[in-house]
Amino acid sequence: MKYCPHCGAEIAEGVRFCPVCGKELVPPVKATPVFEAQDVEENKILAMLGYLTVGILPMVGCRNSAFAMHHVNQALWLFIGELLCCLVMIIPVLGWIIGCVGTMVLFIFTIMGIVRALKGSGEYLPFVAKLPTIIK
Ligand SMILES: [Zn+2]
Repeated sequence: MKYCPHCGAEIAEGVRFCPVCGKELVPPVKATPVFEAQDVEENKILAMLGYLTVGILPMVGCRNSAFAMHHVNQALWLFIGELLCCLVMIIPVLGWIIGCVGTMVLFIFTIMGIVRALKGSGEYLPFVAKLPTIIK
């Protein structure tokens, strides 16, 4: 359940305006995608393994699974984040700090992604929800 940042009212996901105070919710709360139970059940292990293989295993094993591709997208964004963290490490001191903190945050997100894939959840990771979809 999400809450309106202006008045604190409980609001449904995916709505653009708060039904209580009428203020615009920017950015709009992105709805958690819902996947078919059979898809989730059959592909959650591969979806989880996507986080450990930069999405390669699910792309080979179950390219047609919407659930697995949802997690592949998140795995790819985490990988891009890792690359950026490596890149920023070129800058002495400040870059090392940002790179280290970034890597730790991405590690935590990876664990969260793995847990959500195994639970059969399509809930977005923080920040990743705001990023465009790479693989459909
Ligand atoms: Zn409100």
